[in-house]
Amino acid sequence: MSIAIALDGPAGAGKSSIARRAAKALGYIYVDTGALYRTIGLAAMRNGVEPVPSREVDALLAAIRVEMTFNEAGEQIVLLNGEDVSGEIRTPEASMMASKISAVPAVRAYLLDLQRDMAKTNNVIMDGRDIGTVVLPDAKVKIFLTASPEARAQRRYKELLEKGMDVNYDDILRDVAERDYNDTHREIAPLKPAEGSITVDTTALDFEQSVEAIINVIKENR
Ligand code: C5P
Repeated sequence: MSIAIALDGPAGAGKSSIARRAAKALGYIYVDTGALYRTIGLAAMRNGVEPVPSREVDALLAAIRVEMTFNEAGEQIVLLNGEDVSGEIRTPEASMMASKISAVPAVRAYLLDLQRDMAKTNNVIMDGRDIGTVVLPDAKVKIFLTASPEARAQRRYKELLEKGMDVNYDDILRDVAERDYNDTHREIAPLKPAEGSITVDTTALDFEQSVEAIINVIKENR
């Protein structure tokens, strides 16, 4: 039986970098489900499809192929119709589009099996918004990883600056707040701590301390 760790929480709580490191230390596969929503968001952007429930979104989903694979370094790659879009899905525009399109029920249904199949055959740390509540409700350990909006915006700001992007802190804080609102207020699979989840708040923790906290929670509860 494979072991599944569900890791949910708001945008910018450091889930992906923390989970990636914890997965490596524990020998688990790290699965970033946000990348899947971003890939569909990118497909919608490229095709001029509005991110609201519609026949257009249904037609888009029927026409695209979204796949998740891993490179030799064990990093996750997302493919849109066979094209590696792992870099292109990381822009602020793609983030916002992902947040909006992820509220469309057909989009969530489309990605459900892909996510569950990954956890059937592998030990995973799966990072998302609804992993403990919807995708893997029977996960061995469920963690809700959070931090204050300001701390999260500050981290995202630094990250994008380091990538050489021209960004503004206030815009990012506004984006964080808007995405939090979208993610927690949508009707389907809203972001909230799963029943039986353990909350880890990283506002006052640095990266190494956050990784240690997550590894300890997993080791104590798996
Ligand atoms: O985690 P990341 O910021 O890459 O996710 C992009 C968007 O995808 C989020 O704003 C969220 O709305 C959506 N998402 C989701 N469910 C998941 C993962 C991400 O709705 N399991």
